[in-house]
Amino acid sequence: MSTTTATAPLRAEALIRDIPDFPQPGILFKDITPVLADADALRETIDVLSAQIAALTPDRVVGIESRGFLFGVPVAYKLGLPFSPVRKLGKLPYQTIQEEYALEYGTNTVEAHVDAVDPGDRVVIVDDLLATGGTATAAAAIVERLGGTVVGYAFLVELSSLKGRDRLDRGKIITLLTY
Ligand code: AMP
Repeated sequence: MSTTTATAPLRAEALIRDIPDFPQPGILFKDITPVLADADALRETIDVLSAQIAALTPDRVVGIESRGFLFGVPVAYKLGLPFSPVRKLGKLPYQTIQEEYALEYGTNTVEAHVDAVDPGDRVVIVDDLLATGGTATAAAAIVERLGGTVVGYAFLVELSSLKGRDRLDRGKIITLLTY
């Protein structure tokens, strides 16, 4: 098995499924589950994400619930890095710190364990999709409050019309597919 480079079209591109009006009218939901269900596409996606993230020489991957876990954990495993979750409110059992933010649909609060990041850690934040950037910005604020440095963000999908990229001012932004 070889590691795929980002120069060829990604298998994931043909697999991502548009679901109109989910979870609310007017939202075009990008369903990434067919990418997970295709072994070659999944491996290629993780390989390409991992290679681009490795270039940022992070100490840790932080993944955002829940689809950020699906990509963040395999990347962390492949790069030999620790992984820490940022979750929706009320899911984490230990002491947490929280950030509230506005989502493309509604508002939300995310939290992480107080020991999720070591002071001085170089952190890459991973999620499946960049929309308005609110979720990733909240995750970045948590990382910084815990003493980490956000050296980058990585997403499989970017919805460019929502200009989330403009809100992420802390590090390099990796996105594999832009719509
Ligand atoms: P945002 O905070 O606006 O950047 O939203 C990003 C988060 O919401 C990610 O965790 C995505 O999984 C989810 N999300 C937002 N919009 C969509 C969409 N159109 N399709 C799929 N997921 C979305």
